[in-house]
Amino acid sequence: MPKTLIKSRLKAFNLQQGRCIYCELPVWLENPEAFARKYKITTKQAKFFQCTAEHLKAKQDGGKDTVSNIVAACHYCNQKRHKCKSPKDPIPYKHYVTSRVNIGRWNFGMSGIGSCNVAGRINF
Ligand SMILES: [Zn+2]
Repeated sequence: MPKTLIKSRLKAFNLQQGRCIYCELPVWLENPEAFARKYKITTKQAKFFQCTAEHLKAKQDGGKDTVSNIVAACHYCNQKRHKCKSPKDPIPYKHYVTSRVNIGRWNFGMSGIGSCNVAGRINF
């Protein structure tokens, strides 16, 4: 992974207080075991919460690896977005993810771990 991208991902992670831009669930950068212990899930489940760098403007459209174009997203949201035949833009995708999280139908029902409400309050 290019250095700029690694730096941007770390910045985005800190800016978002260690949460995914889409589902707002906590994500991890280095230690899946500690994450799994903290949220009482398995290490295998924790893999879906790995922090990935998401390009707001896609690379093929000229999007850069700079922090203004990079957000932190969990592996699950990132993968789901790019699996679509025509990936949704970040904002409509965020609305879609939020609605799924709210009914508990996201990330294998693990959306209960450290979920946020719409006002941005954190409920652990
Ligand atoms: Zn997510």
